[in-house]
Amino acid sequence: MAVDSTPLGPPACENDAKALQFIEDMTRNCDSVQEKVLAEILSRNAQTEYLREFKLGGATDRDSFKSKIPVVTYEDLHPYIQRIANGDRSPILSSHPISEFLTSSGTSAGERKLMPTIHEEWDRRQKLYSLLMPVMNLHVPDLDKGKGLYFLFIKAEAKTPSGLVARPVLTGYYKSDKFKNRPYDPYLVYTSPDEAILCADSFQSMYTQMLCGLLMREEVLRMGAVFASGLLRAIRFLQLNWKQLSEDIKTGVLNPKVTDPSVRKRMAEILKPNSDLADFIVKECEGENWDRIITRIWPNTKYLDVIVTGAMAQYIPTLDYYSGGLPLACTMYASSECYFGLNLKPMCKPSEVSYTIMANMGYFEFLPHDPANPVQLSRDSPPKLVDLADLKVGKEYELVITTYAGLCRYRVGDILRVTGFHNSAPQFKFIRRKNVLLSIDADKTDEAELQKGIENASELLREFDTRVVEYTSYADTKIIPGHYVIYWELLVKDPANPPTHEVLNQCCLAIEEALNSVYRQGRVADNSIGPLEIRVVKNGTFEELMDYAISRGASINQYKVPRCVSFAPIMELLDSRVVSVHYSPAAPHWAPERRR
Ligand code: AMP
Repeated sequence: MAVDSTPLGPPACENDAKALQFIEDMTRNCDSVQEKVLAEILSRNAQTEYLREFKLGGATDRDSFKSKIPVVTYEDLHPYIQRIANGDRSPILSSHPISEFLTSSGTSAGERKLMPTIHEEWDRRQKLYSLLMPVMNLHVPDLDKGKGLYFLFIKAEAKTPSGLVARPVLTGYYKSDKFKNRPYDPYLVYTSPDEAILCADSFQSMYTQMLCGLLMREEVLRMGAVFASGLLRAIRFLQLNWKQLSEDIKTGVLNPKVTDPSVRKRMAEILKPNSDLADFIVKECEGENWDRIITRIWPNTKYLDVIVTGAMAQYIPTLDYYSGGLPLACTMYASSECYFGLNLKPMCKPSEVSYTIMANMGYFEFLPHDPANPVQLSRDSPPKLVDLADLKVGKEYELVITTYAGLCRYRVGDILRVTGFHNSAPQFKFIRRKNVLLSIDADKTDEAELQKGIENASELLREFDTRVVEYTSYADTKIIPGHYVIYWELLVKDPANPPTHEVLNQCCLAIEEALNSVYRQGRVADNSIGPLEIRVVKNGTFEELMDYAISRGASINQYKVPRCVSFAPIMELLDSRVVSVHYSPAAPHWAPERRR
């Protein structure tokens, strides 16, 4: 078995030694820590409505828990969550008061899922953050000798009917005292001032963060964003705004489009005229060639700190292009529901990234996953879930969590494969998120959502006596921001009256309007997703697609049109049959308020 019991180290400093020792303790004793965590969660929540309903009777042991508490999805918990959102303050899921809702990028009925959290959870999450640099310091020396250029943003927040805040987890974290009053740490010095990170306007925030990154370019030792898509958006932003940015640097006067008073005040301290730097930026940016732009402008960058596992793997070639192949460090695996763990070898290749779950974060169980034989869950015959310490190398599992905030045996929807062990703790490769067809940034669109969009758009074709015969989709990330492409084969009954270009453009918008709120927010507020595109293909194209699949061994009886494609020969076939191209003419509707 692939067990790594070599202690992590030697630490770069005393603080790091404590963090590394903590990781050793968690991974050596993962089973006993898990037992303790479960007992703690169950005893403090013994009187909650949820645990009483399943007659746990105050038991805190694994056997009682596993035999009585069902494995659930968000839909099962929705009625409880809705009551909390509506103001019921009784202990429904958690004995500790729910302090806010974290809005997941996973959706339910088109809206972000609401994940209840409790105040003390920030300490647990902060603890996980505090482990990242000590591990990184084992692999990259001297990170205390410079700064990190990180593009970090807050997003819109909403209030539930009872006044509880609902916002993405990182927005909650950046606005918390934990972040704002963090003690000075030489390993965690950022170029972005907090005022810029906390500025709600995404243009002003990005502009200021980029400007500071340019001003301090020689001090930058690492660059990052949460996801790869975010870092590429920053590069695109530089492509669009370098003239104004260099003008600001030349004159020492901040672009008047940045109006946020606290940002302006802070920038007055930072921005000083520097014509040499301005000339340098013009020289690097004015050409067509943006190959290695990151290392040209920020020559001391040692690595890019971005998640490129899962759906983000599609951005690796573009990141390599802009950075000349700098190492891509995937440091952490986390979600709104719970933070899970970290990568103990952050400088490994993206294809080799494995995350080690920290046993103190929650209680983790695993549903064996075999795509050929999916487990049917029913309350009458509970499935056999496996504990963290009992997983098998090479097997795939779906992650099921029980959290301090009151989620019990909740299916996160992530499929993980065990790649080895560090001490007795398994390490996981992130395989995929279940049911995600298309993703550009934080958006996750499933097949049913896309189908609904196609149906809505098809309504617009009725007056032209036209139907969509077949369709498939593609997440096009060649240009940043990426966008969804839908390939349509149409049956036009009256060739004298085909759907007009304008109507087909409107069809793009109709699809977008039907997609979930994370997608629409990406389109409207974050500009992280470009307008949806429909490519109408020649009649007979989807039959050719089938012929191609069959020629490669697909069974004629079982062939189904793939609803999402990315395989190059298929893309070539589809693109060579395109007869017209249409884009969404406007942004879809989106507002921070929830529909349900
Ligand atoms: P959210 O609910 O919006 O916080 O998103 C959490 C989800 O993002 C996780 O359940 C994963 O599907 C995905 N995710 C988080 N971290 C990673 C990672 N390091 N690699 C791949 N996917 C990740």
